[in-house]
Amino acid sequence: MIRSSVYRLHPGTLRRAQKLAQIAGANRYVWNWAIGQNRDAMKAYKEGKGEKPLATFFSLGLEFTKLRSSEGHEWLRELPYAEVRYALKRYADAIKEARKGKRGFPKRKYREDGDSFAIPQDVRIRGGRLCVPKVGWVPISRRGGDPWAYGEAKQAVVVKRPNGKWYTSVFWEIPDVEPEDNGKVIGLDMGKWNVATTEHKQIFMPEASELEAKLRRHQRKMNRRRQVPLLDADGAPRRTRQGDVIKVNSRRREKERRIVAKLSRRIANIRDNWRHQLSHDLAERFGTIYLEGLNIKGMMKSAKGTVEQPGKHVKAKSGLNREIAASGWGRLRWMLEYKAYQVEAVNPAYTSQRCHCCGHVADANRKKERFKCVSCGYVGNADINAAFNILALGTGAAGQGGAFASVRAGPSGGVLSSDPNDLSMDMQLSHG
Ligand SMILES: [Zn+2]
Repeated sequence: MIRSSVYRLHPGTLRRAQKLAQIAGANRYVWNWAIGQNRDAMKAYKEGKGEKPLATFFSLGLEFTKLRSSEGHEWLRELPYAEVRYALKRYADAIKEARKGKRGFPKRKYREDGDSFAIPQDVRIRGGRLCVPKVGWVPISRRGGDPWAYGEAKQAVVVKRPNGKWYTSVFWEIPDVEPEDNGKVIGLDMGKWNVATTEHKQIFMPEASELEAKLRRHQRKMNRRRQVPLLDADGAPRRTRQGDVIKVNSRRREKERRIVAKLSRRIANIRDNWRHQLSHDLAERFGTIYLEGLNIKGMMKSAKGTVEQPGKHVKAKSGLNREIAASGWGRLRWMLEYKAYQVEAVNPAYTSQRCHCCGHVADANRKKERFKCVSCGYVGNADINAAFNILALGTGAAGQGGAFASVRAGPSGGVLSSDPNDLSMDMQLSHG
């Protein structure tokens, strides 16, 4: 099992930061060199001179070795071999994808595209430091600790983010530990901002409204700032091969963009930490976790619609979609799936209107947060009532649940398609 975590990388000295930038620059150089190499070989091949270029990592790697020892490329020899050569692996992979028609052919990379490179093998991390070949042991840090440090570091990607700071994503090989079934079960109902459980608990996602307001303010500010043409050394605007002027952010726009990036990351981190803690706690205490098979992707799509056929309730739904996307239940579910013994999704139809005590289904049962059964008189929290319905559907304990078969969530995270009769969605909408 491979897990990744992101760390700040602290070069500490200007010399080290420059060296990191040089390795990234060499990656771009080699990538662009490979594009030229491939173009020339293709041209020759079409003119009947020479073989069709293979453009594999192996064939390019042989060429690279020659390039590195050629005159005028002494500077390449100052930089780590594997880390620079790896640009060709990424290039060869991109070519492979392009030949399958999965995406376009690789394009030239510019400095504006950002600095990054990979440490493809022999990743060494010791005492809070990462060994970057030809740079040395560079301190790394991560807020909230280091969850996978007991694993084996396999690969690392070093990136300079738009905020000007260096980061590294480390990919860890984690020994597989099969979670055991302790026979305990729990049902979860995912609301907009909270999870209701059959432990009679409502667990709320941490508030980030102040940060979000700040984020929106800076996003608006950024949109007001302009993009400017990228100029050559002699002051002429640089153009793409198609002749379009290449534009970059103005200094003031770039400043806003960095703030926006930082705030978005902070908000995402707060929520993700919360999801990690919640999923860890649930997976540890319960063997089987039942939740609703909300088709989150399908919902996003149907609301967007197309130009010819705009989705119904676009306006009403886009708000909800934003919130669903923001709340990231799909991600929580993914975490539960890899941490827990098993996760089962049930069809969520009527879980909001059904009384979990007597099984009576009626719209009138639910009044916003309160559930009051018009048949048996049960009174309780509406979300917790829904959680009990989900648990009952999952375990098959719902005597009246014949039509609501439970569906095993596959490893691909197969989600039930949303039922057009699913009133719970409309309920959320109308009460949103
Ligand atoms: Zn009832």
